[in-house]
Amino acid sequence: MIRWIDAIRFTKNGNLTPPKKIVKPNAEWKQQLSEEAYFVTREKGTERAHSSDLCSLFEPGIYACTCCETQLFDANQKFESGTGWPSFTQPLEENTVGYVADHSHGMSRIEVICNVCDAHLGHVFPDGPEPSGMRYCVNALSLKKVKSTLEKAVFGGGCFWCTEAVLQRLQGVEKIVSGYSDGNIHNPTYREICSGLTGHAEVVEVTFNPKVIDYKTLLLVFMTTHDPTTLNRQGADVGTQYRSTVLYNSEAQKEIATELLNELKNSFDAPIVTEIKPLSVFYKAEAEHQNYYNNNSEAGYCSYIISPKIQKLKKLYTHLLK
Ligand SMILES: [Zn+2]
Repeated sequence: MIRWIDAIRFTKNGNLTPPKKIVKPNAEWKQQLSEEAYFVTREKGTERAHSSDLCSLFEPGIYACTCCETQLFDANQKFESGTGWPSFTQPLEENTVGYVADHSHGMSRIEVICNVCDAHLGHVFPDGPEPSGMRYCVNALSLKKVKSTLEKAVFGGGCFWCTEAVLQRLQGVEKIVSGYSDGNIHNPTYREICSGLTGHAEVVEVTFNPKVIDYKTLLLVFMTTHDPTTLNRQGADVGTQYRSTVLYNSEAQKEIATELLNELKNSFDAPIVTEIKPLSVFYKAEAEHQNYYNNNSEAGYCSYIISPKIQKLKKLYTHLLK
């Protein structure tokens, strides 16, 4: 998650490396864009407040750069700021938005740009809603709404190495990020959450294609490949960080999760203790925890703890595997 301190750091030390860089002469941009979009994106203009209905649009989707179509913001991160410009609390990816110190008009602000094509987007301010506290105030003319074909789901089922290793084998799962949710400190480290004192849960963020695997199927696999009946514990892993949790990002996910857990309640020997909660925050874990099983399959934990879970998955869900 990008916070204000990170934005300041980027303006001083330079931005993260974007996935690619697009450079075009102004004449070409002029030809491609409407006059207003050219003025805003290439000449750092500002559109009139309340000039676009994008401000009041909140249905799911992705907002891309109008110049180069890089996907910049997700509708999930959009909020009503009352300013008259589309406002977001976070970019979709950390490296696609750039930060530039802006001292124009006698003010000291941080300009945000498309990190791929350098289009002016707007400014960012440290007065947005928690947990990031950020408000990306973006010109509607800099954005193009595109349909999102992928969805996200967040689950915690004990050690995230296990949950990741199981779910990443399913068809339609495009990407998994291991991380931490809830808790009472920002951007925790693995060491901190391992104490069990910070209140975080080890979770995975699954990006999936709902045309290949729907949320209910994904959740069913998750529920039946970990033990949802042991409170704050998976096998030998004990602590609140190992709690069984489903973190929904929409009312639809909440409904499906509530229904499925109800359907499953007689399938286990003991009552299900899995919590169903709204997703409030997700912190990506350190690089060495990503893709852990595949990178460390010889390690003891992997062969004794994770491999049997994968065997179980293969037995139960052969038809869903990659
Ligand atoms: Zn761009």
